[in-house]
Amino acid sequence: YELKPNPATGRYRLISGNWKMNLNHLEAIQLVQKLYFGLRDVDYSFSEISIHPPATSIRPLQLLIESDKMRFSLGAQNCFYEPSGAYTGEISASMLSKLNVKYVIVGHSERRRIFGETDEVVAAKVQSVFSEAMTPILCVGETAQERQDGLTDEVITRQVRGAMAELTGELASKIVVAYEPVWAIGTGAVATSDDAASGAQLIRQEINTLFGQGVSNSVRIQYGGSVTPVSAPELLATEGVDGLLVGGASLDAETFARIIRG
Ligand code: PGA
Repeated sequence: YELKPNPATGRYRLISGNWKMNLNHLEAIQLVQKLYFGLRDVDYSFSEISIHPPATSIRPLQLLIESDKMRFSLGAQNCFYEPSGAYTGEISASMLSKLNVKYVIVGHSERRRIFGETDEVVAAKVQSVFSEAMTPILCVGETAQERQDGLTDEVITRQVRGAMAELTGELASKIVVAYEPVWAIGTGAVATSDDAASGAQLIRQEINTLFGQGVSNSVRIQYGGSVTPVSAPELLATEGVDGLLVGGASLDAETFARIIRG
């Protein structure tokens, strides 16, 4: 299918559904079928939609999406940075790419906080996703405490630099960065359009410092954190924001379809 870039920026909008640890594979199939049905009369050629189910649902959703030629891209929520070996419980980037996964979320705040992922680990994962010709969705964002302490700029800059500094400019230009203020994730406290704009600007500024203007203009930036059909249109219209990373609201077909419809 043909996607159209945003005429104002030349960048392609990406709306992603991060299901986190929800839905078994039967429920996953049902949700994607409902979403497809809910969008049947909608022209969403200005948005690519990626769906990030738990790993157990990737294969069934690949078969469904491909057999019915659904306009969805397949995503994953994580991967390990080694290509194979004695890493019990882990899944490699090459295993995901074999399933036609296109986007892999890397460095989500839940993985940083609960599973102790450092910027070094996140950087290695970004490299491994690129090495399999997939696209990382790199999550960055400050906690409530960091925001209160005036550390927002420092945290975002450190996370962007930490994950991206070793990339070539060519790869860097292909990354998707999700600005996800941790205080807005799963809390119902959606960031204002101004917050989203300044987060996106900080990210682009740091990429500009690392790789120059050409690269920073190509990178797509999503906003994530308590996005709903009510807040989505304004966030999507925010300067520098090229898409959304949606958690809770992507678990209901009608709600996610409303976000996509705009
Ligand atoms: P939320 O999650 O939309 O449920 O706040 C967003 C995310 O963590 O990606």
